[in-house]
Amino acid sequence: MQPRLFNTLTRTVEPFEPMDGATVRMYTCGPTVHDYAHIGNFRAYVFEDLLRRVLKFHGWDVRQVMNLTDVDDKTIRKSRAAGLPLREYTARYTTAFFEDLDALRIERAEHYPAATAHVPDMIRLIERLIAGGYAYKSDDGSVYFRIERFPAYGRLARLDLSGLKPGARVAQDEYEKEHVGDFALWKAWDEADGDVAWDSPWGRGRPGWHIECSAMSMRYLGESFDIHTGGQDNIFPHHEDEIAQSEAATGRPLARFWLHCAHLIVEGRKMSKSLNNFFTLRDLLQRGWTGREVRYVLLGTHYRQSLNFTFDSLGAARAALRRLDEFRERLETVAAGASPGAAPEWAAGARAAFHDALADDLNISGALGVLFDLVRDGHRAMDANALAPAGAAAVLALLDEWDRVLAVLRPDGDGEEDGEAAVQELLRRREVARAARDWAEADRLRAEIAARGWIVQDTPQGPKLRRR
Ligand code: AMP
Ligand code: ZN
Repeated sequence: MQPRLFNTLTRTVEPFEPMDGATVRMYTCGPTVHDYAHIGNFRAYVFEDLLRRVLKFHGWDVRQVMNLTDVDDKTIRKSRAAGLPLREYTARYTTAFFEDLDALRIERAEHYPAATAHVPDMIRLIERLIAGGYAYKSDDGSVYFRIERFPAYGRLARLDLSGLKPGARVAQDEYEKEHVGDFALWKAWDEADGDVAWDSPWGRGRPGWHIECSAMSMRYLGESFDIHTGGQDNIFPHHEDEIAQSEAATGRPLARFWLHCAHLIVEGRKMSKSLNNFFTLRDLLQRGWTGREVRYVLLGTHYRQSLNFTFDSLGAARAALRRLDEFRERLETVAAGASPGAAPEWAAGARAAFHDALADDLNISGALGVLFDLVRDGHRAMDANALAPAGAAAVLALLDEWDRVLAVLRPDGDGEEDGEAAVQELLRRREVARAARDWAEADRLRAEIAARGWIVQDTPQGPKLRRR
C-alpha cells in the first residue's frame, strides 16, 4: 500500500510519493543546543525517525536534513550566563544530543548543518528578499520580513489576520499569535549579544531563528522538497515564517507535506523547559530506565495524539519488551539455527497487515497490534508443538524485518552490525563532529573508518565512501 500522511497544510490525509519517485527529501527542525533535550523534544525526533524508517521500508531512499540551532536568543543568553564562548557552550549540548539519539536508537539523518556554519547563505537569502521588496531594514540595522507583501501568510497556521496592525514588528524568535507582525530576519548587534556577531550589508548582527531553517533547507534539499516536519509548536511562528521567507524568495512551494507531532504532556501541560516540568533522557537513564524503554513509550502512541508521560507508561513498556524478548528466545530455541522456511499459516497475513498499518499515516497502534497478535499465535503454536524449526526461523526473520522500522525488538547489546552499515554510521558521526567543529573527533572517526578498510572522499556533494 502506498503511504498516506496527514498534511498540516491541507489538514487531510493524502497519498504520499517523493517528487522524483525515488528519494524522499525531508527537513526536520532540529534541537536548539542550549541544554540537554527533554523527552518532549525526543517525542518529535522519535516520530521523525519512525517516519524516515517507514519511508525507507517502503523502498524509497531518504535524504533527511536536521539542523542544529547553535545561535539564537536562547543559546546566546545561556552561554553568556555560563560565562562560556557560544561555540564551546553549544558544542557540549551537541555532543550530548547525539549520545541521546544513539540511546534512543534514532537513525542518523544524512546532514546535520549547524546554523553558525551557514550565515553567508542566510545573508544572501535576506538580500534576495530585500531585492524583491519582501523585507526592509529598520533604523537600528535589523531587517524585517514585511508580511503584508506575502498574501499567503498565515495559511499553514490558519491565522485570522483581519485585525492585523500593518507594520507592527516582533524582534524575538518565539512569540504568540497575538503578536503576529513583521518578524526579524537579521538582528542588529546589541549588548546582550556579547561577541556573537557577523558582518553583513546591514552592519554587524546575527540571523533570526526562522531564516536559519530556510537557508539550510535550501542549501541541502533545494528550493522545493517533499516533507518538512517538527513538533506542533513549530507550526506558528517558526514554520509559518519559514514558508514566507522561502516562498517569497523562490516563488515555489517550500515543502509539499508538512507533518507535525502532538506534544508530550505532563499533567495536562506541554513538557517544556520554561514550565520546568521536564525530564531529560539522562534523568530517566539515571533512574534505571533504558533508552529502549523510553523509545517504546515515545513510539507507542500515534504521533498526532498527545502523549501523557507517566512512570507507569515506562513500567508498561518494560513489561511489553520483556514479553517480546521471551517470545524471541522461545522462537530461537525452536528454530535451533534452522534457515527460514515458509511462514506458518497464522503469520502469513501479518507481514502485509503490519506494513499497511504503518502506511496509513503511521498507525503505530495497528502495527503493534499485529505484532502482539503474532506473539500470542506463536506461543499457541509452540504450546501445541506445532511450529517447525524452519517456521520459527521465518517468524524470527519477520521480527528482524519489522525491527528495521520499530527499532525496539532487539535487546540491548545484542547482534553484530553489518560491516558496511557500521562504516556508514561512523561516516555520519564524522559529519556531525565536523558540523560541530570537533576536529579531533572527526579525525579519530576518519582513522576508525580507515582501519575498517574504507576511505572517505570529501566531494562537493558531501563525503563518499570507497573501499580500499
Ligand atoms: P527546540 O529545541 O525547542 O527547538 O525543540 C526541538 C523540537 O522538539 C521541535 O520540533 C519542537 O516542536 C519539539 N518539542 C518541544 N517540546 C515538545 C513536546 N512537549 N512534545 C513534543 N515535541 C516537542
Ligand atoms: Zn526549523
